Amino acid sequence: MKIYIAKLRGFCAGVDRAIEIVKRALQQHGRPIYVRHEVVHNRFVVEKLKEEGAIFVEEIEDVPSGSVVIFSAHGVSQAIRDKAKNMKIKIYDATCPLVTKVHREVQNNYKNGRELIMIGHKGHPEVEGTTGQIDGRVHLVESEGDVKNLVVSNPDKLAFVTQTTLSVDDTASIVKVLKEKFPKIVGPKKDDICYATQNRQDGVRELAKFCDVILVVGSPNSSNSNRLREVASKLGVDAYMLDNPVQLDEGWFSDDSVIGVTAGASAPEVLVQQVLDRLKKMGSADIEEIGTSTEDVVFRLPRDLQEISMQN
Ligand code: SF4
Repeated sequence: MKIYIAKLRGFCAGVDRAIEIVKRALQQHGRPIYVRHEVVHNRFVVEKLKEEGAIFVEEIEDVPSGSVVIFSAHGVSQAIRDKAKNMKIKIYDATCPLVTKVHREVQNNYKNGRELIMIGHKGHPEVEGTTGQIDGRVHLVESEGDVKNLVVSNPDKLAFVTQTTLSVDDTASIVKVLKEKFPKIVGPKKDDICYATQNRQDGVRELAKFCDVILVVGSPNSSNSNRLREVASKLGVDAYMLDNPVQLDEGWFSDDSVIGVTAGASAPEVLVQQVLDRLKKMGSADIEEIGTSTEDVVFRLPRDLQEISMQN
């Protein structure tokens, strides 16, 4: 078995920052620290942070008075922000700055009297946070079919935004249909898909040229990891997502398989290395990294956590 591994894989700058905020808040304030929603969608990361003293809650009302709470990387609605402000709690915001940028697009377009359309997945916390930036309605579309059925109040005063972790190709098709149906619609130049999502999908496209099986390390609720598996499948490659090396199934490949490995933006490198170790034990000796580009995006931490020196 031969293995190719995508050079651009795993943690993005937004995930790095969110995890760092939880760790530094724990260092600064001691345990427990409350986190509204899984800070990033990865089971391993969440379990580790629980061990270190983080308590994950879904509702802001479940945070006791006097506590410290962190908003997850996916962002929160204004309603949650307002509720939190009226509680006696200290808030750190781990919303990815690239998600915050989309929030601003929604707010600005609304202020300018435009009706909003969001391309995204129903029920995803990022979508709930983004559509919850304004009092008015945001139409959610998930497919070209949804656009065809969409009824708006004024087709001349429309704007669209997208979730940051969508499939680049699927989103391009939906945007095309939107622009055909509503020629005056305004929006980002192409979409709001972030650099990390784009790079990891490009990496899968590259892997698919050489591999007959692609493994995506990522948790089932990770949107960008799911998209990586889908991109590979659409290119005709057998693709599987796995949360940890134990889930590797020898039935997925044969002795002469060429295997591609990548990881979603919330999957830690330690899991990727554990998957590679298990593949080596199964008989893969040859591992080659694919890709030449690099990522140098770093997001600043909240000011009062910048000076915390970490013990490990
Ligand atoms: S996947 Fe993109 S939007 Fe999400 S946290 Fe990472 S950089 Fe931010």
